[in-house]
Amino acid sequence: ERVARGHVAFLAEHDALTGTLNHRHFSQALERACRTGPEPSRGLQALICLDLDSFGDVNDRHGHQVGDDLLRRSAARLLRAVGPDDLVARLAGDRFAVLRPAAAHQAALLSGVQQLLDQLAQPHEVPGGVLCISASAGVALHGQDGHDADTLLHNAELALLRAKAGGRGGFSVYDATLDRQLQDRRRLATDLREALAQHSLRLHYQPLWAADGHTLLGYEALARWPHPLRGFVPPVEFIAVAEGTGQIEALGRWVLQTACREAARWPAPLTVAVNLSAAQFRRGQAIVTEVADALRHSGLAPARLELEITESLLMQHTDQVLATLHALRALGVRVAMDDFGTGYSSLAYLWRFPFDKLKIDRAFTQGLGSDPRVDVIVRSIVGLAHSLAIRVTAEGVETEAQRDALRQLGCDELQGYLLGRPAPAERLPHLEQEIVAVVVTEAPTTAALQALSA
Ligand code: C2E
Ligand code: CA
Ligand code: CA
Repeated sequence: ERVARGHVAFLAEHDALTGTLNHRHFSQALERACRTGPEPSRGLQALICLDLDSFGDVNDRHGHQVGDDLLRRSAARLLRAVGPDDLVARLAGDRFAVLRPAAAHQAALLSGVQQLLDQLAQPHEVPGGVLCISASAGVALHGQDGHDADTLLHNAELALLRAKAGGRGGFSVYDATLDRQLQDRRRLATDLREALAQHSLRLHYQPLWAADGHTLLGYEALARWPHPLRGFVPPVEFIAVAEGTGQIEALGRWVLQTACREAARWPAPLTVAVNLSAAQFRRGQAIVTEVADALRHSGLAPARLELEITESLLMQHTDQVLATLHALRALGVRVAMDDFGTGYSSLAYLWRFPFDKLKIDRAFTQGLGSDPRVDVIVRSIVGLAHSLAIRVTAEGVETEAQRDALRQLGCDELQGYLLGRPAPAERLPHLEQEIVAVVVTEAPTTAALQALSA
């Protein structure tokens, strides 16, 4: 009976699957440790959060039994790797925590964390082969990063998030800057929601010219957010926030509709290019409906709309994304690959989807002239694209030397500050040409002159 009672007590405190402490018991122990505080003579007291990388994939691919088995094995490795004073718990799913009450100093602590990760990353022998899975960790220090259990746990998890963002198999230590950044992003997300609701976002349009320099082909629509306190927030910042919070769907829909409505007013065949974020492809074919709606409502001919996507989209969940891209192209719109050359697998993706256009990243434009190898790379990109009947645009053209070199290397279209900066719809070059024509053929009106000098 005593054995049975002992067993019941064990069950109340431990996770049935892995035999580590359960969340509740671990939290209590953590609270106790926080109340007592780190003993200065014993060094640092640290909370380490650990999480297996892409554990969901293991479950999906090999089934839950293999998943459970992997959790048991990982827990066993942790229990074996920690010291006698450490506490190990499974917090949830594949999330583990280690409370390390006495690390001699920061360096010892960090190498200890690395050892835990190394242990977890060892290949597992399973029936029919080996399974490799890495883990990431976040570390928070008691006293330094929080005095109570909740804060400490929260901070260790923040650090874990940052470690995950940096790739798999790494760890990161909590710091207050990280926390501020996160709060800042949260505030930005709230402001962005308001801006979307109050229609205070704007689109600017940057011209695309044929490489001959004489023919205006169209514009790329670029989102602008005049923030009441911060001034213009750079799009890379607020697009990232929108992607993180799911607001990218509403934002993306607004960009599509606004850009199409605006372009429908331009003389044909001027085109408009719209940037699509990978997050807009998450809901499968929903993006196809949105593009079709934007075209229908604006009356813009599909051939005058170009969608710019990045390589990162294709590197994700390829089959579904490819199907969606084909459906988009079947609407009659053109699809361009943006920022070409910045990912790893650019070339591999070129034959998988019939892109209409490829936009060479502006890093290449900037490298021209300083490194002769850049010329060689651009020349071969152009040659390859042309042999696949894909047009090539060079971005970020800022100097005449760059323009001439890109023209010489065979690029079809050019875009950049030299040829025109992004501007609001009422100040675009095709409008100015009209005004110039009026001035030349008739006596200049005061209004036309004012428009010219504005
Ligand atoms: P992107 O698609 O590569 O857009 C081109 C960026 O290069 C724009 O920055 C543009 O202002 C800038 N640029 C143009 N010419 C030059 C030049 O000669 N020199 C230099 N240094 N830069 C030049 P912007 O407007 O800050 O946009 C940054 C990024 O934000 C865009 O990169 C795009 O990825 C994203 N973005 C902007 N608007 C949208 C949008 O409506 N939806 C989505 N999903 N992303 C957007
Ligand atoms: Ca773009
Ligand atoms: Ca680009």
